[in-house]
Amino acid sequence: MRYAMKTGPEKTFPGEANGHISRDMRDIKPHRVIPRNDPRVNIVGLSREELTDLLASLGEKPFRAKQLWHWVYHRGETDFSKMTSLGGALRAKLAESCVVDRPEVTREQRSTDGTRKWLLRFPDGNEAETVYIPEDDRGALCVSSQVGCTLTCKFCHTGTQLLVRNLTSAEIVGQFMAARDAYGEWPSPMDETRILSNVVMMGMGEPFYNYDNVAKALKIIMDGEGLALSKRRITLSTSGVVPMIRRCGEELGVKLAISLHAATDEVRNEIMPINKKYPLAELMDACRTYPGLNNARRITFEYVMLKGLNDSEADARALIKLVEGIPCKFNLIPFNPWPGSDYECPPVSHIERFSMLLNDGGYSAPIRMPRGRDILAACGQLRSESERERKSLMKARLAQGIPDEHATTDPSDFP
Ligand code: SAH
Ligand code: SF4
Repeated sequence: MRYAMKTGPEKTFPGEANGHISRDMRDIKPHRVIPRNDPRVNIVGLSREELTDLLASLGEKPFRAKQLWHWVYHRGETDFSKMTSLGGALRAKLAESCVVDRPEVTREQRSTDGTRKWLLRFPDGNEAETVYIPEDDRGALCVSSQVGCTLTCKFCHTGTQLLVRNLTSAEIVGQFMAARDAYGEWPSPMDETRILSNVVMMGMGEPFYNYDNVAKALKIIMDGEGLALSKRRITLSTSGVVPMIRRCGEELGVKLAISLHAATDEVRNEIMPINKKYPLAELMDACRTYPGLNNARRITFEYVMLKGLNDSEADARALIKLVEGIPCKFNLIPFNPWPGSDYECPPVSHIERFSMLLNDGGYSAPIRMPRGRDILAACGQLRSESERERKSLMKARLAQGIPDEHATTDPSDFP
């Protein structure tokens, strides 16, 4: 991503100046959501094996699963009666026992820079945000893996919304399909002509704390006979859940981004509590051995620029030392403010200087142009609505003693 140079003392990032939040309800296509108590099976999110088993249970041969897969993921068809190659009897059986469902779009916002953000509601009423970021010749969909996040990185808006639940594979794939619906991008085009050409697992949540569902969803998205997005066009971003890094490389082979954000354990412990569990030395070891790394396939270290905290020349030098020997590049993310946030973004010229220091050390370090700040769609600004409802759900869970492996909270956090 390129950073557009500006001149003059009032250099700012787009959306920063007026703080205007635009709400645009145009183009929202109402989508019928299957009620929670509907016993029919949602085809979206099933693995190929599960789909084959499902069809076998309806007395059908495996090739029918292949045909159905094509209709659902290549053609984007949701109506069984239009899946002409399946034969009338099977179409009727499917309509009785299955659905092809997407999450419901409950709100859409458009940024002045073309970024679009959808608030999606799932059958149980929970919501998550998905963001489309257009660029000149492509566009990335920023997909959420959880409703909220159990981690509490201090600079992140999502981190203030404690975990409600993991998203299912259907809900993760469903985000991609809902965005494709919005652009009418069916049947799945070849990579070169796609509007939705890339997926970044950088929305709400920590993907490695919902690995099974994320992996299942990404395998569906990568399947060559369906949505067919190449693994080179998928990036998974993690806060640094060390034990999952190798497994992700071996099983999925997607590009890896690490939310680094500090060059020392002291600073990282302060802003990212997960560092106390997986300190920098362990994280760097895991990165060094990420399968398939070479000069053409590098790890991206994301680095949110926080004024006075991690943006000094000494920090830049320490970073260069820290990543020594790892094929990598940096992505400098100007801190995106959100209501109640404690940090400030350094001046643009300061971030440019930091970038140059990393360049001098031999590392590419582009500044990630903030996108969709005016609609709170930029990195770290996502957070779904209905907070009160969410808190009472969480409180109820905790009161029932339902454990949350990763939660760093106790019931007294929920007044
Ligand atoms: N949970 C995952 C992925 C989602 S966050 C992770 O932490 O990697 C996507 C990126 O935005 C991460 O690098 C995250 O650290 C960064 N981010 C979070 N809050 C931010 C903010 N307020 N401004 C800029 N970047 C932020
Ligand atoms: Fe969770 Fe990532 Fe935000 Fe940290 S930066 S709180 S891991 S979403």
